[in-house]
Formats: sequence, structure tokens, C-alpha cells
Amino acid sequence: MAEFQSVRGFHDIFGQELKKFRYVSDTVRSLLKLYNFEEIILPVVEYLEVFQRSIGEVTDIVQKEMFVFQDRKGRWLALRPEGTAGAVRAYIQNRLYALKPYVKLFYEGPMFRYERPQAGRYRQFHQIGAEVFGTLDPQVDAQMIEMVHTILTKLGISATIEINSIGCRVCRPSYKKALSDYLEDVVGHLCDVCLDRKDKNPLRVLDCKVETCKEAVKQAPKMVDYLCQECATHYETLKSYLDMLSIPYRENHHLVRGLDYYTKTVFEAVSDELGITIIAGGRYDYLVEEMGGPPTPAIGFAVGIERISMLVKDLPQEEPLYMVIPFGDTLDYAFEVIKKLRDMGKRVETSYKKANLKKQLELANKLKADYVVLIGEDEKRQNTITIKNMHTGMQESISFLELAHERL
Ligand SMILES: [Zn+2]
Ligand SMILES: [Zn+2]
Repeated sequence: MAEFQSVRGFHDIFGQELKKFRYVSDTVRSLLKLYNFEEIILPVVEYLEVFQRSIGEVTDIVQKEMFVFQDRKGRWLALRPEGTAGAVRAYIQNRLYALKPYVKLFYEGPMFRYERPQAGRYRQFHQIGAEVFGTLDPQVDAQMIEMVHTILTKLGISATIEINSIGCRVCRPSYKKALSDYLEDVVGHLCDVCLDRKDKNPLRVLDCKVETCKEAVKQAPKMVDYLCQECATHYETLKSYLDMLSIPYRENHHLVRGLDYYTKTVFEAVSDELGITIIAGGRYDYLVEEMGGPPTPAIGFAVGIERISMLVKDLPQEEPLYMVIPFGDTLDYAFEVIKKLRDMGKRVETSYKKANLKKQLELANKLKADYVVLIGEDEKRQNTITIKNMHTGMQESISFLELAHERL
């Protein structure tokens, strides 16, 4: 056993897992660019208060799941548990609102949460997040959900998109009251955590995973029945846009999300295979203002890269690998050929070993070469290469000049 192990919940990503990781990341990033999102690189560390103020003091994330520490001057800092809080902080600090009527940003990177590690869940995990600041138009909500749908389609992942509206400052208080009253009646069926939530944050009881709680809230009042006129119109318009865009979705009246800052539209993509949430987002129309910026409606979502990677079945075909094997005193010519191949954009490996042809071909197989390029004294003298297809066994000789004309 190795002397050192990685920290629990922190893991190395490499090989096939990394290929899937990059495939997910590249697919999402290229799509975000088509929707005119601009990248921003945000720090991994923020002042603790940034998360306390935005995510909410009584959320699981802030109370139990953050990596919090003091720096040498005694200031409280935290590793970011999610990306939106930092994006909002950056939007305000850099006065991005002064630049454009609305701002579309995306970021990618590690997030940290002190949770119990399980399949696809790590304490350091990676997200790509997208945020749109400055518009309340339900078209944007529809577009965000359309992007989620496109990401899933492009990656060949079957998932159900769930949507809900959780109202605004005007309509949510009366719903919270109605829900609290209802929960009072079923109090005997609630788990300890929900007994605590019932008064502080009753909405969270709706998405408790404990069976008795799930059963207890089945008849609970629904937020959609309490929406004010503005929220109701927003929600209905969003649904009509999703229909126009032919985006399949399911209304989940218990979808509330675990963070305090959401308003109106919330949505999630839930894997049909594993039942876990792989993309999640929503509107947060007051957060910029609550964090000291100008009143700015906003909406965002985050893609869990590890979680989606677990569901990716097929990767696109890799570029074929060429393995160049020089024999005898041909290294000078081999270097020329290798350079030419790489200039042509080919993926090239070299044999660093001196061995006979049989051993070299075995090595090429181990390295999963698709072609071997054999270079001997004859090839060097005649300015040719011998190229062998490792899948079919077909072998042919071509001139360096032909190679230069990109015959491959
Ligand atoms: Zn409302
Ligand atoms: Zn519960």
C-alpha cells in the first residue's frame, strides 16, 4: 500500500473517467458559447460571509457542509460549495451591470462540500455553471431549460426535466404560512430534521427524502396555487415557451432546491437511470440586491460533471494513434517523419526501445496504436515509410512526398 492516500472524498481523475469528464465539459462549454455565454474564472476561496449571506444561514450547505477555515490574520474563509454566490459577488464587485443590459457568464471548476462520499459524490466535485443577470423575461428561463435539454440529448443521457415555481417576496410568505399550518397537523410523521425545518424553512420539508416525511407532505398545499399574478403569469408563459420549443418537462410541486436564494422558476434534470439530480438551477431575482448590488433579476444552473460522466456510455472516437518505430541508423529520418505527422495533426507515439520487429509490434499493441510507421535503412534511403494498419494488418509503402501531400 502506498504511504500516502488522498484525503477522504477527494480523488484523482484520470484514464477513461477523465475522458468522459472532458467530453461532458467540452460538450457543455461549446454549447454555452453558442448561446453567447462568456467565461469567468472565479476564485475557489471566498469570505465565509459571501456564502452565509447568499445560500442562507439555515441551509444544510452553510450549517454542515462547508470547508471553513481562518487565514493567518484570523479572517473566516470558505472553499466554495457552489458557484452562484461567487459569480454574484464578482458581478457586483466588477460592476459588470454597467457594461451591458444583461450579462451571461459561465464558469467551470471544483466545488467543495463536506458530505458523506458515495458513488459519484465527492467532497471535491466539479461543476460548470451558467448565470444570466439582468432580465426577468421568461424567455430566458425557457432558454436555460432548453440548454439543459440539449446537453442531455447531445450526451445521450436519459433524464427527466422537472420544473416548479416557488414564488416571490409577495406570494411566498402566505404559502409558507399555509404550509406551516399544514405541517403542524402532520407533525407526528415528520423526521427530526423536518421538525426543525418546519418553522425556519418549511419549504425544505417538501423535498425531504425520509419516507414518512414524503408520505406526510403528499396532501400539502402547493406553491403554484398561491402564486401572485406576476409569478403565475411568469410560470404559465414559461410553460408555453417550453411547449413551443418542444421541450419535455414534468411539473414537480415539491421541487424547492436546497438554497434560500431561489425565486420563481426552479428546475432540475433527474437521471432516469440513477434517480439522482445531474443538473439543477433556478431564478434568484433578489440575490444581487441582497448582496449589495443594484436590483437585478437573474437565473442560473449548474451541471455536475462527475455525476453526468457516470452516465455517459459512448465516447466519440479518438484520433487514431500512429506509432513510429525506427530500426538501425535512421533516427534522423524518423525525427523528420514524426515532425511531419504531428504537423499534419496526427497523434504520434515513438518507440523508445531498441528491439526486434515482433517485440516492437507487441509494444505498439500495448500502447493501442492504430497504425505503426516502420522506418528502416531502406525507407530512409528511398525517402519512404512503411505503414501498417494494426486493425486490418494491411501494410503499404508510401513516399515522404506523398506523406507531405497528406495522403494519410
Ligand atoms: Zn409572486
Ligand atoms: Zn424529513
